Formats: sequence, structure tokens, C-alpha cells
Amino acid sequence: RCGLVALVGRPNVGKSTLLNRILGQKISITSSKPQTTRHRILGIKTTAQAQVVYVDTPGLHRGGKRALNRALNRAASDAIADVDLAVLVVEAGHWTDEDDLVLQRLGQAGLPVLLAVNKIDRLTDRAQLLPELQALAARFDFAEVLPLSATRGENLDRLEQCVTARL
Ligand code: GDP
Ligand code: MG
Repeated sequence: RCGLVALVGRPNVGKSTLLNRILGQKISITSSKPQTTRHRILGIKTTAQAQVVYVDTPGLHRGGKRALNRALNRAASDAIADVDLAVLVVEAGHWTDEDDLVLQRLGQAGLPVLLAVNKIDRLTDRAQLLPELQALAARFDFAEVLPLSATRGENLDRLEQCVTARL
């Protein structure tokens, strides 16, 4: 199996951290400062089962007034133009209007979307997780809804399995 997978989502949800963890190397710059990833970054993960090309994208930004935001939006839109699958990365407990916007665009692109609910290590109460996952799953016909922690490497093997199964 092989395919092209885009990591998409608003700034700061952990897309670049996730890519680095999947690849096991620091290929994409991560930062607590939004808009650190300004260009598309590709990473290739080869396993016995699959060869997957991951595209890290700058987050889609609301408001195209500033030239930088416009350029970032263009790069993000280009990135999802010809991928096989999109991994929408969001933050556990922090769904925002911007997430809605990104989801809308993915829906328009007609892509299968796997929802990665990141930063679950931050939840003070894990009992919050199940109802949240159910609420998120109701928003869209996601291919899969997966809770994970990119920094702790939690559930990333499951994410890779789901990605591979969809290619
Ligand atoms: P991007 O803008 O979506 O690419 O986000 P980054 O990968 O640059 O990460 C933004 C911030 O979130 C950084 O400070 C990361 O260390 C942090 N972060 C990413 N993943 C996790 C996670 O699973 N748990 C926690 N607690 N922080 C995370
Ligand atoms: Mg980034």
C-alpha cells in the first residue's frame, strides 16, 4: 500500500509534533508559537505494510487580509489538493470555530477524514474523553476518531494502522 496523507488543522494543535513522532525524527519545526510551519513539509514513512508520504501543512487561517495569512492558506489548500486521506488534528477539549472552518474545507474537498484528537495527556479527567469523542464523531462522517498524544507517543501506532488501512 502507498499513499499521500495530509496533516491538517488550525495552528498549534500539534501537527508538526505528530509528524516528527511518526517519522521518529525532527523534520518539521514545532513551536508553541503559531504559524511556525510556513511551507509544506513532506515525510516518508516506510514499513513492511506501506509507504506513506505525510504532508505537514501550515494551519488554515481565518481572515485572508494579511498577505502572510493568504499565503499560508494557499499552501494549506494546495496541500490537500491531491491527497488520499486527511488527518484532521484537533486539541482535546478545545474545539473552536477555526476547527469548523477547516472541517468545512475538507468536506468540500470530498476527502476521507480521520480525526486525531491530540493532547489527551492534558485532560485532567480521562472520563471527559469518551463523551467528547462521541460529540466530535457526530460533527462529520469521519473515517475514524482517534484520541492521542503526540508528545507522549500515545496511540500513534493505532493512527498509523488506521491510515494504512485507508490507503
Ligand atoms: P502545529 O502548529 O499544529 O504544527 O503544532 P506544533 O506541533 O508546532 O505544536 C504546538 C505546541 O503544542 C507545541 O508546544 C507542542 O509541544 C505542543 N504539543 C503538541 N502535541 C502535544 C501533545 O500531545 N500534548 C501536549 N501537552 N502538547 C503538545
Ligand atoms: Mg506546524
